[in-house]
Amino acid sequence: MTIIICPFLFLQIYPDPDAEKVIMGSTVLCIHHSEGCKWTDELRKLKGHLNACKYDTIPCTNNCAAMIPRLLMEDHLAFTCPKRRTKCEFCNKEFTGEMLEGHAGTCLHEPIYCESKCGLKLQRRFMTNHRLNECTKRLLPCRYCHKEFVYDTLQVHLGKCVRFPLQCPNRCEPAKIPRDELENHLKDLCPAVVLPCPFKDSGCNFMGPRFAVDKHSEEKTKQHLLLMCGLISRQQEQIATLKSTIQNLSVNHSGSLFWKITDCAAKMAEAKVKEGFELCSEPFYTSPHGYKLMATLFLNGNGAGEGTHLSTYIKIIPGEYDALLLWPFSHSVSFTLYDQSSCSEKACTIVESFVPDPSWKNFQRPSREPEALGFGFPRFLSHESFRKRSYIKDDTLFIRVKVDPSKIIAV
Ligand SMILES: [Zn+2]
Ligand SMILES: [Zn+2]
Ligand SMILES: [Zn+2]
Ligand SMILES: [Zn+2]
Ligand SMILES: [Zn+2]
Ligand SMILES: [Zn+2]
Ligand SMILES: [Zn+2]
Repeated sequence: MTIIICPFLFLQIYPDPDAEKVIMGSTVLCIHHSEGCKWTDELRKLKGHLNACKYDTIPCTNNCAAMIPRLLMEDHLAFTCPKRRTKCEFCNKEFTGEMLEGHAGTCLHEPIYCESKCGLKLQRRFMTNHRLNECTKRLLPCRYCHKEFVYDTLQVHLGKCVRFPLQCPNRCEPAKIPRDELENHLKDLCPAVVLPCPFKDSGCNFMGPRFAVDKHSEEKTKQHLLLMCGLISRQQEQIATLKSTIQNLSVNHSGSLFWKITDCAAKMAEAKVKEGFELCSEPFYTSPHGYKLMATLFLNGNGAGEGTHLSTYIKIIPGEYDALLLWPFSHSVSFTLYDQSSCSEKACTIVESFVPDPSWKNFQRPSREPEALGFGFPRFLSHESFRKRSYIKDDTLFIRVKVDPSKIIAV
């Protein structure tokens, strides 16, 4: 029978020598049986066995103070004993086990990954230089705009950087201009850009670089002034053409002119002292594409009525459609001078009319000469009759000129 109890406890309880003999002779298992020791023998031999049992613990032979089973001593001395002698696998320096623990994580030869995640593994001693000067993920300021960029995006940035210096397309000096100033440079500053003379619109065809244009402008002042004069006279012609176009657009085409003459007293006084003083109406057309006419009035008379009568005439003046019209002019023309009396019964409005005599040259197609002769009534109304009635009111008189193709004479 095998007894598995603690033999030392047993001895204390039973100090009897006989009993001790019996007990010491009993068969026991090694106290390290559960750890794997297969030894079994009499109890008295146990102590001797324990001196050699590979499962029994002994102090570390390297004096680290740990109790280590004989079986694990070799392993302990080689790998875990803090007093063991060992070498750092990276720098190859010798350490005790406990010093190596402190050394690990600081060894300058240990390869480590770059913290900036560039993917590179380098010995710790090279890392500072790598991060500052080589790492593709290091931050660097753009040398032109001074903003910070990750190194491997810097090239892309330079392609867009607003301060990146570019060559002027005109290859002028200075050669390099920041990207955001190039447009302004080409527009206002580039000395090499070819510009037209500022008097281009006046007719100067000179073109050249900015400096040459400046020089040209200074040297050719007189020529430019002459060109300007030419331009001004051309513009005056244009203005005159435009004016006459506007006038034509506003010309009356109804065949009936209602002519208002103001400041009559002053005009009469002027007519008395100025021989041939003639008032002219706005031109008007007999119809939308008809003859162009103008009425005239001599307040102090003309021809047979000079000094005694009002004389009125009609003039045929050159019109837009003369080439299409029948000549001589043969429409009847009537003149009406309005009596402006407030009492309509007493009013005596004067109406005179005529049918043109086709043999008169006044009714032929007018030439371009401005002073064409008129036709009408030298003795339209005597000054005496004129004064008696209210033909002038508020210093204003009204004359109507009506042209009628039907040749019916108004009476
Ligand atoms: Zn044992
Ligand atoms: Zn040890
Ligand atoms: Zn090391
Ligand atoms: Zn890196
Ligand atoms: Zn930049
Ligand atoms: Zn330039
Ligand atoms: Zn010029």
